[in-house]
Amino acid sequence: MKHINLPRRDLLKGIGAGSLALATAGCGSTDPSATKAGPKYVMVFDQTKCVGCGRCEDACNQANDLPAGIARLTLERQSDRVEGAVCKKCGKTDCHCDRKYVRVSCQQCDNAPCIMVCPTGAANRDPNTGIVTMDGDKCAGCKYCIAACPYNVRYINSDTDVADNCDFCLNSKLAKGELPACVSQCKFKALVFGDANDPDSYVSKLLQVKNTSRVKPHLGTDPNLYYITITKPEV
Ligand code: SF4
Ligand code: SF4
Ligand code: SF4
Repeated sequence: MKHINLPRRDLLKGIGAGSLALATAGCGSTDPSATKAGPKYVMVFDQTKCVGCGRCEDACNQANDLPAGIARLTLERQSDRVEGAVCKKCGKTDCHCDRKYVRVSCQQCDNAPCIMVCPTGAANRDPNTGIVTMDGDKCAGCKYCIAACPYNVRYINSDTDVADNCDFCLNSKLAKGELPACVSQCKFKALVFGDANDPDSYVSKLLQVKNTSRVKPHLGTDPNLYYITITKPEV
């Protein structure tokens, strides 16, 4: 198993933005609930398989009853080619040859700055699964968690006026024994979810044999979202 520290220059530009200084300070305190034994739910996004169809975003919106056009994840489309430049593969300027996509969503940190700064306990870790989630009834809407997140992935749900993050569909799907909506709706098998503490799980075996990357692990957040990235052939 080989895990590479990000960011690579061309990957996850969206996640790279945000309140880095605040978040780094937030990591100085601890998130003790993350140390409990139990499952370690992780997700793997395989950039080599994602075609940017957007089904994951639609599935998230529907499963979690979110406002129109909103999902707890976004897809960032990337291209290394300068706008209008000729493609080396097909010779056109308007092709899709070198497009690639990145899932931008909560990284499910084991040391979660959003939990550390939340004054009400609304941003919390589910004791049974270890998943970072929300208790909407406790949220004061102060947005401290949004400022503290080094991945710039939290937002205020305009229907409920409370903060929100991807929690792997903890209540909407996992509680019913189903996979996260994005995972089950991805026809291209670009998303894998499971318990990394279970040595027999597919996700465990995937992490053992694939080179994967995580975003900004040097911050000490210990994210549980892994990326299999496209490696360009030498030219
Ligand atoms: S559903 Fe799968 S292939 Fe489609 S955009 Fe989402 S991750 Fe990519
Ligand atoms: S990535 Fe998720 S768990 Fe980590 S700080 Fe941001 S909202 Fe919290
Ligand atoms: S917006 Fe809500 S979840 Fe975020 S820090 Fe404030 S009370 Fe906590």
